[in-house]
Amino acid sequence: MWSARLLTLKKVYSRLNYKFCLRTTQRYLNQNLNSATPRIMDTRALKNPYTDYDGTPACTQHLFDSQGKLTEDFAGRVRSKINELLSLMENGLRSADPRDCTGYTGWTGIALLYLHLSDVFGEASFLQRALDYASRSLQCLTRRSVTFLCGDAGPLATAAVVYHRLQRPQEAEDCLTRLLQLHQPVVRGEGKLPDELLYGRIGYLFALVFINQQFGQEKIPVQLIQEISDAILASGEKLSMKRRYQSKSPLFYEWYQEDYVGAAHGLSGIYYFLMQPGFGIKFPSGNFPPCVGDARDLLVHWCHGAPGVVYMLLQAHRVFGEDQYLGEALQCGEVIWRWGLLKKGYGLCHGAAGNAYGFLALYKHTGAPQHLYRACKFAEWCMDYGKHGCRTPDTPFSLFEGMAGTIYFLADLLQPLRSKFPAFEM
Ligand SMILES: [Zn+2]
Repeated sequence: MWSARLLTLKKVYSRLNYKFCLRTTQRYLNQNLNSATPRIMDTRALKNPYTDYDGTPACTQHLFDSQGKLTEDFAGRVRSKINELLSLMENGLRSADPRDCTGYTGWTGIALLYLHLSDVFGEASFLQRALDYASRSLQCLTRRSVTFLCGDAGPLATAAVVYHRLQRPQEAEDCLTRLLQLHQPVVRGEGKLPDELLYGRIGYLFALVFINQQFGQEKIPVQLIQEISDAILASGEKLSMKRRYQSKSPLFYEWYQEDYVGAAHGLSGIYYFLMQPGFGIKFPSGNFPPCVGDARDLLVHWCHGAPGVVYMLLQAHRVFGEDQYLGEALQCGEVIWRWGLLKKGYGLCHGAAGNAYGFLALYKHTGAPQHLYRACKFAEWCMDYGKHGCRTPDTPFSLFEGMAGTIYFLADLLQPLRSKFPAFEM
């Protein structure tokens, strides 16, 4: 297995200069950042009312101790808010779309929330709720999309994990078989499949990695994951060649003829995954615009902008150890702190909870209390749910737009070093 992987690695290195690739892309992006006027982000964000971290113990002592452990008082407030929001969510879900199976806005997202709560709190009743919602999602698969967040891989992978936890191996295997039936069509790119996270190959790849992480073993052979990585690389090379970008960026990706940058549809989401060492491919490769060439510095969301790009930068720092990447990631943190309390509300995809995960990622990477402090402050904002005049999302109780995502984040704040942005962070 190892020699095969090393061979691929060598092949990849000789074909492409990845480091150069990421650098040029970044330079490209920074030009856009510098030419943009940051003030228009003020139209999308509410003014951050909190004092920033000042380095004194007085500023953090009501939130967490010197080891980063939340105080009893603050953790208690978070826990009781989780319970309060959960019952509001359950109530609200009665009017949710009964045919939406997805992780993004539908039943799988709610199943993922309960799976997470059962991990954090160790209560069997949460696992039972996860099962209820996972079974519901299996009744209404899209039969069109293949990804974890917007397609059928999410419901199948989530249900497989829930069955596995409940020691129902036959049903788990059945879900895995159905999940793997999508593998070859994804590798071949059937139906003009894109590469990005929400609707493309990366979104299917995540489901396979999720299975291996949750089962704690190589349930899905790495070979299958690698075949998808290879297809994504080939597709990126092909577009780079078509655009005659080879000297600037040997890999390039688009979605609907737009050169997206952010985590949901864009380059940074794809690069974040390609740089995961476990895939056998080492991919060296302020705020960021939604698309390359877009001079509007407007969106500070996980889906578009610094809160999603930060994961790629931290991964690049982990892989190449170059301070420049860490510097850029810290700059993302500053952008999120200033413009991250969005008028769009408290959700994961484009809301305060999703943005706060950027602080948790920085905290896990650096251990600096400043980032945990900022995450706690964004949590306080989220605990005043509904009191800031934010707009109500289309799916107000869902995982990616609504209340389920806020609860997911609050539960993660109770164990900051183990926190992970759902359906994305590895
Ligand atoms: Zn979004």
